[in-house]
Amino acid sequence: MNIPLLNFLFPNMCCICKRYGNYICDDCKKLLKRNLPECYICRRLSPQYSSHTQCRKCCSLDNVFVGWEYNHMSSSILKLYKYKNVREISMGLSPPPPPPPIQEEMRGVLIRWNILLHVLESILI
Ligand SMILES: [Zn+2]
Ligand SMILES: [Zn+2]
Repeated sequence: MNIPLLNFLFPNMCCICKRYGNYICDDCKKLLKRNLPECYICRRLSPQYSSHTQCRKCCSLDNVFVGWEYNHMSSSILKLYKYKNVREISMGLSPPPPPPPIQEEMRGVLIRWNILLHVLESILI
């Protein structure tokens, strides 16, 4: 099977904006939002996407990398990859860009939010 001929007859199309060229165009790639590194069990911040020791159970994973926020764009990409067997779409996404630096004022908000969650958990349990 000649892939370039197939690409000529049936050109790739951005799964988000439907522009011809790639499965994900550069403009739409910029709109994908990175996730902050968090523990996949409790969803609180955690360096290197590792699960907290206190959150782990016997079969928990040590680290789970969730690269992008789940929304209609990442959902479209996942559906193409998973259900339409478009494996090339992963090439357009790798390597992932480094996570954005957490600014000091944002870090303070996140720490206060985590403390508030701890307090609420202790009240509710
Ligand atoms: Zn696009
Ligand atoms: Zn945790």
